[in-house]
Amino acid sequence: MTLERNWAGTHTFAAPRIVNAASVDEVRALVGGAARTGGRVRALGTRHSFTDLADSDGTLVTVIDIPADPVLDEAAGTVTIGAGTRYGIAAAWLAERGLALHNMGSLPHISIGGAIATGTHGSGNGNGILSTAVSGLDYVDAQGDLVHARRGDPGFDGLVVGLGAYGVVVRVTLDVQPAYRVRQDVFRDVPWDAVLADFEAATGAAYSVSIFTNWLGDTIEQVWWKTRLTPGDDTMPEVPDSWLEADRDPLTAGNLVETDPNNLTLQGGVPGEWWERLPHFRLESTPSNGDEIQTEYFIDRADGPAAIAALRALGERIAPLLLVTELRTAAADKLWLSGAYHRDMLAVHFTWRNLPEEVHAVLPAIEEALAPFGARPHWGKLNLLSAERIAEVSPRVADARDLFERLDPAGTFSNAHLERIGVRRPR
Ligand SMILES: Cc1cc2nc3c(=O)[nH]c(=O)nc-3n(C[C@H](O)[C@H](O)[C@H](O)COP(=O)(O)OP(=O)(O)OC[C@H]3O[C@@H](n4cnc5c(N)ncnc54)[C@H](O)[C@@H]3O)c2cc1C
Repeated sequence: MTLERNWAGTHTFAAPRIVNAASVDEVRALVGGAARTGGRVRALGTRHSFTDLADSDGTLVTVIDIPADPVLDEAAGTVTIGAGTRYGIAAAWLAERGLALHNMGSLPHISIGGAIATGTHGSGNGNGILSTAVSGLDYVDAQGDLVHARRGDPGFDGLVVGLGAYGVVVRVTLDVQPAYRVRQDVFRDVPWDAVLADFEAATGAAYSVSIFTNWLGDTIEQVWWKTRLTPGDDTMPEVPDSWLEADRDPLTAGNLVETDPNNLTLQGGVPGEWWERLPHFRLESTPSNGDEIQTEYFIDRADGPAAIAALRALGERIAPLLLVTELRTAAADKLWLSGAYHRDMLAVHFTWRNLPEEVHAVLPAIEEALAPFGARPHWGKLNLLSAERIAEVSPRVADARDLFERLDPAGTFSNAHLERIGVRRPR
């Protein structure tokens, strides 16, 4: 029997069966059958989460082979598309029709259903996490029935970032907007002091800003700007040659620690379509490092400078295990399990070398440093936060759990991970 792993190879699925559903009816039959026999089911996306979050002791069902079948509603300004569709595929389809999404994560390879279920985000002070673009969901519920939920329905804000905890989402409706162009620029060796002096201005310097650091020294290794271009104007005079005493790198193929530059989307200020600049990695490339573990916490952006100071004090412990840290931002939202729920967000991300023991050993110090700032976890990445702690920092977890228990009283979609983090009740 072949062992089935997640993308990074950090988790081997225990589920005895993985089904690639070819149709919504197949998902319905599978869930309905499991419900009748007391079995369990979990949705599996493109396997980019780092833990046992998606696992099950029953059947894993993935919707990535169900045709995307995108349907535009021009009047509503939305597209409805198969939940298993990768963001990059959806983006290319929209771009061909002169349309765009508001943002993308670093990888275009990730399924829409899996990304929105864990609160995946890109960057930008004014940009909500990717899940905020969701205006409708079609999901197979615990009885095997197909249910449509739309923005504004009671409980909808609890379903979008839903961790697969109440059903299998088969189609997603996303807000779209007219296509736009973006240029990507890299500033190197940016002084920390200058960035922290007005952190809100620094993270808001472009449509999307990413700060890459190894936590050592007085300068930030790279700051990436993704500047949204005015339609028809690709000159963008407001991207300066130097920013906060740091020079803009003219190279179009940058580098990220131990990543092939050819895997990255084009930099050096060359304008391109939104979907070919907002992700860090190219759809046709091998993304990121691969042999890695990721961890990420979300704090209130206003606490950014204090939290960064606390983490810089741990720099010597963090750096040997780290490939890179990326700091990104998002606008506050009202999705119950969003990392940006009711607060403008700073996302503090760590891409670790694949050294599980050493990484586990350093996480308590990081979580302690971030504790005063009420750090919330990224649901798809590794952390050690207890259910009690998560309930303190994510104020709607209890509401979400109640909702999921009501929709799925038998726990068909629950698993050990969801019980451990308090998103489903123990059974
Ligand atoms: C290289 C890399 C880069 C990343 N970059 C970012 C980033 O830029 N920003 C960020 O925030 N995160 C990022 N992540 C994390 C990633 O976006 C999340 O882990 C996301 O959940 C992965 O989606 P997936 O389709 O692989 O889901 P999976 O890992 O397969 O599943 C994750 C969860 O979603 C649920 N799920 C999946 N599909 C469905 C469905 N159809 N219906 C209901 N529930 C479903 C599963 O049950 C599970 O609980 C990155 C991860 C990697 C490996």
